[in-house]
Amino acid sequence: MESIAREVKGSFHWYPVQKTFSIVSARDTLKFAVGIPYMARNGRTSQLTQAPQLHSGHIWIAEDDAKKITTKPVASEPVPVKTAEPTKPAAPIAAKVDPKADTKPATPVIVKPKPPKAEIAGSREVRTIVIDPGHGGKDPGASGKRAQEKDIVLAVAKLLRKNLADEGFNVKLTRSKDVFIELGQRANLANQWDGDLFISLHCNAIDATEERKRIIQGYQFYVLRAPESEEDKAIARRENAVATLYGEKNAKDELSPLEWFKLEARLEQYKQTSYLFTEKLLDSFEGGKIKKMNTGVGGAGFMVLVGAMMPAVLIELGFISNEEDEAYMMSKVGQQDLADRIAEAVSKYKDAVHSYRETLGRD
Ligand SMILES: [Zn+2]
Repeated sequence: MESIAREVKGSFHWYPVQKTFSIVSARDTLKFAVGIPYMARNGRTSQLTQAPQLHSGHIWIAEDDAKKITTKPVASEPVPVKTAEPTKPAAPIAAKVDPKADTKPATPVIVKPKPPKAEIAGSREVRTIVIDPGHGGKDPGASGKRAQEKDIVLAVAKLLRKNLADEGFNVKLTRSKDVFIELGQRANLANQWDGDLFISLHCNAIDATEERKRIIQGYQFYVLRAPESEEDKAIARRENAVATLYGEKNAKDELSPLEWFKLEARLEQYKQTSYLFTEKLLDSFEGGKIKKMNTGVGGAGFMVLVGAMMPAVLIELGFISNEEDEAYMMSKVGQQDLADRIAEAVSKYKDAVHSYRETLGRD
């Protein structure tokens, strides 16, 4: 890709967190994402023969695709899609939370998009926290030997609400009782409340032998990112299953590559701050009763996060299929401890956003 950039006399920009890259020349702005077989040329999306791949420290694409890029735009066959992808060159990473960034939504999930504001969520002061206790009502979520996911996450959400309210945050819950809410509706609510941070609470589970259930435990934090492992894909499918199960509109359990690609442009605005929050979560969950699973951070296509126009993180508190994790998540002490740790992360996140704003000279 670097040599293609030189050939078209363009500059090459690589965004390691998002795993996206762009080539900006006098003629074109081309955007790509590793692992996704599409590119956008000046905002128009077209298919690639193969997804760009990372290999030996470089990004490689198929020869046919390379030819498309180095020839005139007419040679490409644009897929007719209505997106609001910005055509200007992407800002460098340090300026990712630039409030002047394009705030137009590029997703069909939102029913009533708000008009662009002067400062978007993620770059303005952190005030409104939307807590989303997963599942509810006819959808119990995952079940353990004694508990159901929907009850645990609601209990933690209520404790978290109290903690955050005591610290002066404006706190909203997508549900405060045992009721069913569609996945798409949860993000819509968060957008209506003009949230600054969306936290979806869940419990993980595996369907496996008793021995595996004893071994597999731990918490994990998820952001919207093209999944890199089969495990992450499976977790998203499980959390998304409710939408297809109950006939939700636009329901699906996985995003198509094209949908991923179209999401990228919008996600860029919130991805850095979503990761910033997961960093704070990793710090505050350190040393707790429930252990970290793998690296503690994963990415997949969680439908509940797709429509949120703000930094958004899905927390798997622990494995309900593991007796130890389940007992802790069911206990009053455990629930309070989890709420305390999340609240601490929210406060640290707020401080981090605040000091970033100070470096930009904002009040
Ligand atoms: Zn869940």
